[in-house]
Amino acid sequence: MTDTFDPDLLRDRYRSERDKRLRSDANEQYIEIAGQFAHYLDDPYVEVQERAALFDEVQVAIIGGGFGGLLAGARLREAGVEDLRVIEKGGDFGGTWYWNRYPGAACDIESYVYLPLLEEVGFMPSRKYATAPEILQHSRNIANHFRLYENACLSTEVTDLTWDESDRRWIISTNRGDQMRARFVVMANGPLHRPKLPGIPGVERYQGHSFHTSRWDYEYTGGDSTGGLDNLSDKVVGIIGTGATAVQCVPHLGRGAKELFVFQRTPSSIDVRADRLTDPDWAADLQPGWQRRRMDNFNNLVSGIPEAEDLVNDGWTDIIGNLLIRMRRGEGEMTPEGIARTMEMADFEKMEQIRARVEEIVQDPVMAEALKPWYRQFCKRPCFHDDYLPTFNRPNVHLIDTDGKGVQEITERGVVVDGKEYELDCLIYATGFEVGTEYARRAGYEVHGRDGVTLTEKWADGASTFQGFYTRDFPNCFIISVVQSGFSANFPHMLDEQSKHLAYVLDHAQRHDVTLVETSQEAEDAWVQTIIDQAQYNVKFLEACTPGYYNNEGRPADRTVRNGSYGAGSPAFIRVLEQWRAAGDLAGLEFA
Ligand code: NDP
Repeated sequence: MTDTFDPDLLRDRYRSERDKRLRSDANEQYIEIAGQFAHYLDDPYVEVQERAALFDEVQVAIIGGGFGGLLAGARLREAGVEDLRVIEKGGDFGGTWYWNRYPGAACDIESYVYLPLLEEVGFMPSRKYATAPEILQHSRNIANHFRLYENACLSTEVTDLTWDESDRRWIISTNRGDQMRARFVVMANGPLHRPKLPGIPGVERYQGHSFHTSRWDYEYTGGDSTGGLDNLSDKVVGIIGTGATAVQCVPHLGRGAKELFVFQRTPSSIDVRADRLTDPDWAADLQPGWQRRRMDNFNNLVSGIPEAEDLVNDGWTDIIGNLLIRMRRGEGEMTPEGIARTMEMADFEKMEQIRARVEEIVQDPVMAEALKPWYRQFCKRPCFHDDYLPTFNRPNVHLIDTDGKGVQEITERGVVVDGKEYELDCLIYATGFEVGTEYARRAGYEVHGRDGVTLTEKWADGASTFQGFYTRDFPNCFIISVVQSGFSANFPHMLDEQSKHLAYVLDHAQRHDVTLVETSQEAEDAWVQTIIDQAQYNVKFLEACTPGYYNNEGRPADRTVRNGSYGAGSPAFIRVLEQWRAAGDLAGLEFA
């Protein structure tokens, strides 16, 4: 087979689409949800119960009850840690799946590898792509199974963490007046949990109804996460943003609203989803250890590591499938540069399929053209949906493409694009979450380490850690994040690897009566250097990408090099952790 595309033309097109979206304000274009916008953060799902402030002490405090906190809690319980407390700002466990209940919410990495601890908890998802309520229920089941509700503080937001050197404890302040103490703290805040608003001129002026997708207002729209937004049948609705969230809720808005205006700056790539019910015979045949094997298989394939078999076999693993076919055909040299070139060709082929799919589905040729993504598949979060593109064939749905410029203005009545005002009853922000802002701003609390130094000060020029977990002068504090750590498309997989690693270290601390764990300065410096050295290929790739949160809004080479992930990929990162544990000498850590 010969390719039907011209790689040079595609490279040019990708470059020009990127260039027209580059903005001098980059990440500063977004505004923090605070002050007059603070109501966008209210928890619509729970009535917060009064409780007395806590001044007690625990061995381990875990901040965050999403998959990160749940996995850390589960693996610590397995390691015999009994005295632990999860602190969570939401009214229940679940993290992103607690907050994101918008219509159509579901995972789009297959649930058999995405939902953690399936074998441990004894649960099989009902479908290939589980819906948000099922994932939320699974989160609760994990919390029950590992007794994480015991001693938990829900609807509790940490406001400050301060290290008390005199008795080697962390003092945890919260919005409930608590001042708890903990020997060890695990920060599992989550990477995408602080909603953001676009700093569009006039955003504060809009007088109609509005909300962010992560706090869906079903009281206003009617219906639930399965759809049925009947209250919108006489409403003109606008939605800003066309990322993974919008792709899932737009079909429901299209069905429910009298009229829907979708304001687009950059189209997402929308591949086949092909959701289906779980085959009970297949599930019954699975052998113990199946989930780990399947997760490893998926993670290797999406990281570009060949596997004899593709167990998941979906749109995520397709691109590596294309790559392997090309390599078997003898295309490209077996050098890193040769493989990168072949990978680029496989990517062009994949994206040509994605663009052809738009043309096949969307009847209006102008709209179809505007919905075609012109960038490499992993420049932005790839999306998988079978109803999103057909929604644009509905007569009540209007795509307002801004040709990369974004919404021009928001007025009291609606949204302005190209000088034209679109009057709306309701405006929905599907504008995503803060990435790349200061750690403390995203976390919602500052961390004061030894001698009062703050994490914000220490990381002013970029993060500094050993293995992503520890940062000197912040003893007994463990970070679970993607920064200087492994990044996998299957996020919970990485969280589990980090949690197992953490449980190993804390188990050691517990068995040896350790009161202080801290990285050595040398280990931290060496790790930061590794991150910088490995960033080169990633930065080159990301620089060529259209802006978004994956590339710090078009500026990947800023301090994001240090805030980036382990550049050799998550399988290599997992190996580093495994080898470190196997060596048994806990090199790079100081204990007291
Ligand atoms: P994103 O950050 O991915 O999308 C934000 C959207 O808002 C983009 O389309 C962006 O355009 C648009 N936007 C921002 N400012 C403007 C403006 N001024 N004018 C017009 N449009 C604007 O947020 P999402 O909530 O969609 O997704 C966040 C992440 O959450 C995903 O990447 C994914 O990791 C995760 N997620 C996972 C899901 C799953 O597992 N199924 C489902 C949903 C989300 P532009 O692209 O031009 O910046």
